[in-house]
Amino acid sequence: MSMRPDPASRGLGMTSQRARDRLVERLAAEGIKDRRVLDVIRQLPRHLFIDEALASRAYEDTALPIGQGQTISQPWVVARMTEALIEYGMPRKVLEIGTGSGYQCAVLAALVEKVCTVERIDELLRNARRMFRKLGMANIRSKHADGRLGWPEEAPFDGIILTAAGATLDDALLDQLAPGGTLVAPVGPAGRQTLLRVRAVDGEWVRESLGAVSFVPLLGGIG
Ligand code: SAH
Repeated sequence: MSMRPDPASRGLGMTSQRARDRLVERLAAEGIKDRRVLDVIRQLPRHLFIDEALASRAYEDTALPIGQGQTISQPWVVARMTEALIEYGMPRKVLEIGTGSGYQCAVLAALVEKVCTVERIDELLRNARRMFRKLGMANIRSKHADGRLGWPEEAPFDGIILTAAGATLDDALLDQLAPGGTLVAPVGPAGRQTLLRVRAVDGEWVRESLGAVSFVPLLGGIG
């Protein structure tokens, strides 16, 4: 057992509340406006979702490796996508494709009634589930599958969020969006991805581009 005092408990460490407060200030300065999203990021311990060796970098505004060639998204991107998803009204039930570390899912679970999340790499999903249990998040359902098919048995969803980029947007996912629902997804090839928002308004898809982003690719099959 270490005899050194825990820096986090003194509020000075790289994983402390102060570090999270500073991250939130930075996100706000960089255009994130939704207080509800900023408040969740202020409270959620992002450092627990990454390897201990990287924990000191958890509150930098950067993507970090989580193993299996995947990354936990940059906090600004998580905040922006969440904000875009809830802007026209808080969804009740959300589908996330690409659980990864589980961080984006946990942000959503703190805001909405129920989150269903799908991940194709079993080992990542196991780690994420452990974190959901540890944080007592009981409103998350998860499964190991190819998320390009969505989750038909749980559909329709008021919100759908993809955290990996496909070349195009699959109709299978749009079909699982409830009337009035919102989908947020990075779309396009590496180096030329755009964040898209699609809303189901009066039986039509209203598409909007929210700017350039960089995500890992949406892959086929399960790992
Ligand atoms: N939301 C995650 C981001 C992880 S990166 C987080 O907050 O940490 C994107 C994730 O999408 C990776 O874990 C990758 O394995 C997963 N992924 C890629 N293609 C997929 C598919 N077809 N179905 C489900 N998950 C997929």
